[in-house]
Amino acid sequence: MLKVSHVTKKYGKVMACDDLSFQLDPGSVTVLLGPNGAGKSTIMKSIIGFLRYDGEITVGGFPNKTTDARRLLGYIPEMPSLYPNLTVSEHLDFIARAYKLKDYKARKEELFRRFELTDKQKKFGDELSKGMQQKLNICLGLLPEPKVLLLDEPMIGLDPHAIKELKLLLEEMRAQGRTMLVSTHIIDSVDMLWDRTIIMDHGSIRANVTREELERDGRTLEQLFFDVTEGSASCQPEEDSGEGSREESKGSGEGSWKGSREDKALQEEHEK
Ligand code: ADP
Repeated sequence: MLKVSHVTKKYGKVMACDDLSFQLDPGSVTVLLGPNGAGKSTIMKSIIGFLRYDGEITVGGFPNKTTDARRLLGYIPEMPSLYPNLTVSEHLDFIARAYKLKDYKARKEELFRRFELTDKQKKFGDELSKGMQQKLNICLGLLPEPKVLLLDEPMIGLDPHAIKELKLLLEEMRAQGRTMLVSTHIIDSVDMLWDRTIIMDHGSIRANVTREELERDGRTLEQLFFDVTEGSASCQPEEDSGEGSREESKGSGEGSWKGSREDKALQEEHEK
């Protein structure tokens, strides 16, 4: 459903993703584990089409930057960036319009109920607490029900109820045959959720295993994680991007999901 082939992305001299290849099956949850700076966000932004990179990425057989691929793809970015002049409710209406969703009201209400935002619907983006912003961010990504959903560190800032609901929603989406890629650096947060785990460190894939393979191997996910990441960390310190190597945001909104989401939505509207 999602195929990443030999993807390499550098920011100046920093090798963020070094010749990454993997693929995800329909109806599966893959966890992308790795310490801070491993390259998880970079590969996600490459898949969603926000970055330039070398290599090839296809979604449902379509190159990822085509309209056909974009129709299949959804993305929940790590940093919520909301529109201060839109209410919680209007945020979802905006996404619904951009994706031309019909009959979305029931799902909108269900998402608000499950993430305890029902009584916050009239609040503006900048009136929300950090946790509420993250919950709204998640609702925006879930509303269009994409076939392939990328979630970048989605549990950060969520309360236990929201974490439970998000995990249930991911299980429901898996049962519907959807494909999810969830990045995190907190191993415990994904415990029972995953079908496949890809462990990244310093821009490379250090392990790519299914749950069955790991069970046969006899190691826990935590053991595997430390086995493949420790040692390398001390001899390959994370490179500082430093002055001059920071890549500026592209016109497509690279590095700013608000711009990216808006541009993508508007572009889609234009292309349809
Ligand atoms: P992760 O999501 O695993 O924490 P990232 O993909 O954000 O890792 O970062 C991978 C590497 O790329 C890190 O060394 C980080 O400092 C660097 N990096 C990320 N974004 C930029 C950017 N916009 N400009 C320069 N370097 C960057």
